[in-house]
Amino acid sequence: ITKMYYEEDADLSYLNEKIAVIGYGSQGHAHALNLDDTGLDVVVGARKNGKSWKKAKNDELEVKKIQDAVEEAKYISMLIPDEVQPMVYENKIEPYLDKGDTLFFAHGFNVHYNQIKPPEEVNVVMVAPKGPGHLVRRVFKEDTGTPGLIAVNQNATGDAKEITLAYAKGIGCTKAGVIETSFKEETETDLFGEQVDLCGGVTEMIKTTFETLVEEGYQPEVAYFESLHELKLIVDLIHEKGLKGMWNSVSNTAEYGGLTRGENIINDKSKQNMKKILDDIQKGKFAREWISENQTGLPSMKRLREMEENHEIEEVGKELREMMPWLDGE
Ligand code: NDP
Ligand code: MG
Ligand code: MG
Repeated sequence: ITKMYYEEDADLSYLNEKIAVIGYGSQGHAHALNLDDTGLDVVVGARKNGKSWKKAKNDELEVKKIQDAVEEAKYISMLIPDEVQPMVYENKIEPYLDKGDTLFFAHGFNVHYNQIKPPEEVNVVMVAPKGPGHLVRRVFKEDTGTPGLIAVNQNATGDAKEITLAYAKGIGCTKAGVIETSFKEETETDLFGEQVDLCGGVTEMIKTTFETLVEEGYQPEVAYFESLHELKLIVDLIHEKGLKGMWNSVSNTAEYGGLTRGENIINDKSKQNMKKILDDIQKGKFAREWISENQTGLPSMKRLREMEENHEIEEVGKELREMMPWLDGE
């Protein structure tokens, strides 16, 4: 099993100067507040007319224009959306970097696919918490932490890994445990997971299960519960106890039916398709497609979003979720 890094493996004194957290969204607000609570010197970099500027001020953090924050900081954490990073980097970050600075990312996409090419004299590292920002903040306050990945892509100062571990400690990740990876591995596995099972596969599974039942005359409400609502119960069991733990908790009928029928749904054919998806990721085909989609104003994305919103399961779901006020949606 691979090495895990914990509290005692990380030394906060490696972050001995100002840290600029660029962006104050999901990850940005969590990193900035956690680093600040840890006692480190934090400045938030934001645009003056945006919402984040006010938000960070309200949270009593020091806020500056991105250029100014980068200029005065030695550690710069890139926490704005991946699609806007290359432009913001070129205009407001790169010109203000000094030799020996450290550039942090929370996802490897732009560096791995060469959309951002930092100069040789700065460290390029990653601290990627394995959880959304609000969780990174909440568990920190509860004195636990979110597990995370770290990676060093460019070690200009010789102590880039120590600096990276210190940052992981500052945001709470070493409380839960940190694993070392590379920009390549993090980027490719992250894209693969979200395309295959986490987002792409699971939504298609839900819709197709629902459609099959409704087309055969079953009530949409009943189909909704079976295809979507109950998924959480099963996923929670798997998350907490693994596959065997889940099988132990469901009925024997569910276990036998699932074990005998599952392979009709996901099988060697599906694995071939997954390998093709992985191949597109490894060869940069997906990245090129996504970059050009962004550059042309998201034409496919807009069409696909609309189709997804108009699916019957969304209408039924909206009504049913209103009847279940304990679900904390919007
Ligand atoms: P968000 O979408 O939450 O980022 C929003 C922030 O970016 C706001 O502060 C916003 O400022 C700022 N911003 C947006 N556009 C611009 C711009 N053109 N110029 C300047 N600032 C801008 O990002 P995430 O936190 O989701 O993602 C940040 C990084 O973390 C990404 O690399 C992502 O892959 C990674 N990551 C995200 C995870 C998540 O759960 N969300 C999990 C792990 C990694 P304003 O208020 O002014 O609009
Ligand atoms: Mg992702
Ligand atoms: Mg059932």
